[in-house]
Amino acid sequence: MIACLGRIVQDTDADSIPDDDVSTLSESLDLQGTIESGGITGVAGKDFGGLYSVKPLALIKPSGTEDIARVVNAASRTSHLTVAARGNGHSINGQAMADGGFVIDMRSTEENHFKPLTIDGSHYIDVSGGALWEDVLKRCVSMFRLAPRSWTDYLSLTVGGTLSNAGVSGQAFRFGPQTSNVTELEVVTGKGEITVCSETQNSELFFGALGGLGQLGIITRARVKLQRAPDMVRWIRVVYTEFEEFTRDAEFLVTQEEGESFDYVEGFVFSNSDDPINGWPSVPLDPDHEFNPAYIPQTAGSVLYCLEVALHYRNSDRPSTVDTAVSRLLERLGSIQRLKFQLNVSYVEFLLRVKQGEEHAKANGNWDSPHPWLNIFISKSSIVDFDRTVFRKMLKDGIGGPMLIYPLLRSKWDSRTSVVLPEGEIFYIVALLRFVPKGPTVEKLVAQNHEIIKWCNKEGLDFKLYLPHYQSKEDWKRHFGNQWTRFVERKTSFDPMAILAPGQKIFKRTHIIKP
Ligand code: FAD
Repeated sequence: MIACLGRIVQDTDADSIPDDDVSTLSESLDLQGTIESGGITGVAGKDFGGLYSVKPLALIKPSGTEDIARVVNAASRTSHLTVAARGNGHSINGQAMADGGFVIDMRSTEENHFKPLTIDGSHYIDVSGGALWEDVLKRCVSMFRLAPRSWTDYLSLTVGGTLSNAGVSGQAFRFGPQTSNVTELEVVTGKGEITVCSETQNSELFFGALGGLGQLGIITRARVKLQRAPDMVRWIRVVYTEFEEFTRDAEFLVTQEEGESFDYVEGFVFSNSDDPINGWPSVPLDPDHEFNPAYIPQTAGSVLYCLEVALHYRNSDRPSTVDTAVSRLLERLGSIQRLKFQLNVSYVEFLLRVKQGEEHAKANGNWDSPHPWLNIFISKSSIVDFDRTVFRKMLKDGIGGPMLIYPLLRSKWDSRTSVVLPEGEIFYIVALLRFVPKGPTVEKLVAQNHEIIKWCNKEGLDFKLYLPHYQSKEDWKRHFGNQWTRFVERKTSFDPMAILAPGQKIFKRTHIIKP
């Protein structure tokens, strides 16, 4: 059957396969799952960014790993077909697309794995690469009172999708990104081989696939470290006028031992104005909280900074114990005393906090509009310059969405993975999460992102794009820097024909046909 598909696609242009040829394709692949082609590939040619769209040859809904291996093997027998795993399609720049190729809907495998394990007294969960983190959270907490340690802010993302990038949120300062919190993967390589890998077994594939932008293999299962889930979270926001004080406190908190700091540390920049999206109203955690601008010192500039922290606790903890722990930590901070917002929420509610924003954005039409987002890792040595020019000048009126900024520690990231970071122990993630508006066009905002990157390069800032997006090999080489050779070697070993994740635009499909 696979040989038959090889014949079809070698002899025919992908584009010329007729719309009604689903059954031929389907028969050729001999899948347990389903295949859709022609005009019914639906979301497969779109993503959250809304900036790119392409036409895939077919959307595959595999029933499991064997189906995925079959699709990759079939593509490898052609001269040109590519395969993109699509997690939840929450990329910005077409990274999960395959122009004229196969798109694999990983969500159709989300139920395939969900198995708790205890190894040497530590808890783990085996989950599908296509599972959504929000489902992993809900099931782990409700069934075992356990939870993964490291998260993303928004959880309608797949396990394989975030592990192919890094997976960063306010817990990463303590536990590292999500890529530092898995111990085993099952991967379908670009050679169509199903391989289990870990630090000690097929370690090149294990570390290469983590942060590997989908280039080396499709993650079909991951073993995720768990910890005991807290019941509740005290969620707090405090405000600063001075960037130096904000960064000093944020860095202080992320460098303290567990028990001596908060369990979650993030931050954001907002404009010093009453703008409902970009200004003071974006800070309070609850509609009942009021942001009183009279407390802002006269010396404040065009933008202000919010440090967002959270402390875990249990239902059995006395309220006074939690209050004391919080006060002890807040006392050490130099924020504006009277601009402090606090809320007690359940742990699950806290981790699902962005879902509320999603519902709101869906209701006002902003969720489905384009999102020209920009994510950058910037070294501590460059962050003051970045603030001075980018936040305080270029973006001083806001961007129509959050401008996140918080510090991370390089030592919590494993340098054997494919993730690329700036130099130095402390670096910041800056996320410009634009929800496009009325007003400037999308092109203008994309151009502004380019202008920011261009400025960072011109000024010699030490930075790397997170969720990178480049068009030319030269740019990718520069991005990977001294890790480029290792990345190319891994690619050559595990996906020698460059079949996988063509939407990243790093390697071109080669024409070697498997014997
Ligand atoms: P997709 O966009 O579908 O895929 C991304 C890439 O990974 C593609 O190249 C694809 O081919 C590849 N891929 C997908 N699945 C697999 C797999 N199983 N095996 C191998 N390769 C695969 N990121 C953070 O780190 N922290 C955040 O807090 C955060 N918040 C976000 C909030 C929102 C609202 C959005 C839209 C994105 C956010 N992201 C965040 C970014 C997110 O991590 C990436 O966009 C991620 O790629 C999306 O996951 P996905 O499952 O939709 O993957």
